[in-house]
Amino acid sequence: MSKGRIFSGMQPSGRFHLGNYMGALENWIKLQNDYECFFSIVDLHALTSSYDDTSKLQDNIMEMAIDWLSAGLDPEKNVIFVQSHVKEHAELALLLGMSTPLSWLERVPTYKDKIANLGSQGKDMYTYGFLGYPVLMAADIMLYKATCVPVGEDQTAHLELTREIVRRFNYLYKKDVFPEPEAVYSKAKVLPGIDGRKMSKSYGNTIPFGASPEEMMERIRMMTTDPARIKKDDPGNPDICIVYAFQKVFNTEEVVDIEAKCRAGEIGCVQCKKILAEKMNYMLADIHTKREELKQKPGYIKEVLEFGAQRAQVEASKNMVEIKEAMNVL
Ligand code: ADP
Repeated sequence: MSKGRIFSGMQPSGRFHLGNYMGALENWIKLQNDYECFFSIVDLHALTSSYDDTSKLQDNIMEMAIDWLSAGLDPEKNVIFVQSHVKEHAELALLLGMSTPLSWLERVPTYKDKIANLGSQGKDMYTYGFLGYPVLMAADIMLYKATCVPVGEDQTAHLELTREIVRRFNYLYKKDVFPEPEAVYSKAKVLPGIDGRKMSKSYGNTIPFGASPEEMMERIRMMTTDPARIKKDDPGNPDICIVYAFQKVFNTEEVVDIEAKCRAGEIGCVQCKKILAEKMNYMLADIHTKREELKQKPGYIKEVLEFGAQRAQVEASKNMVEIKEAMNVL
């Protein structure tokens, strides 16, 4: 028995990284067994911040599909599709935009943060599309009448806005067309990047999910350790070391031993990094093999996405009729 219907999406705006995997995808893979899931590669959302250079968009979509499938997302169990392939996402976003107060959008906490962050890189983020991002997100969820949305703590405000848009619609048009979606929280913690800040594409501090063993070692080599340690037998302070933060996540068997040896000056940073890289490569080995296989089959990936879009389309068209009837847009 399904516990409800889920919609979730991810932007194809660069290389999928371990933070995305640990923070979102790993949870989706668990949810696929209990819920009816719609998972979308939300390319229209990617345009809200990458509108000025779309040259890599199609490659990023293919890469993301490969990452999802190699990690274990099942295209038979779930509806996996590209957002723009189902035109009703854009149509519903336009309709919802008519009744969404501007002040609701302006007060979304991540809005100002992102403007500051991307604006400082010289990009004009004062666009209509970027402000309207949460309306498009509400449309994604509402189009399938999703009842549950997996969220990290940073996205709670977005979901609350979707719930407000749902209530406003049902109230204005006097019909309970949409359920109010509930949050499904995951236990996943925020993964730090190689510089200690949150791992994020926009900080350039990621470890790509598809990193080769060489690239993995390269990225781990760049992690900062206790700067007071000069010689390898100096006692170290793991509490301020990024490598240690990763050992805690990815090497639970050895972390206690490594911590003790670091504090006693019995293990050097180079060796510690090598242990971590080997461990992470080992954990990701099967996924990487699957990934390489899938990369050789672009035809199959396209078929999966077409099949997903067809299934999503059936539900979207049906719901759109009801939505437009409620609004007298006939
Ligand atoms: P990015 O910050 O790299 O642009 P997104 O904002 O596109 O990542 O996030 C996509 C998904 O991955 C979201 O569900 C988000 O919560 C999750 N996520 C992103 N970075 C991390 C991280 N460092 N740790 C845990 N989860 C993360």
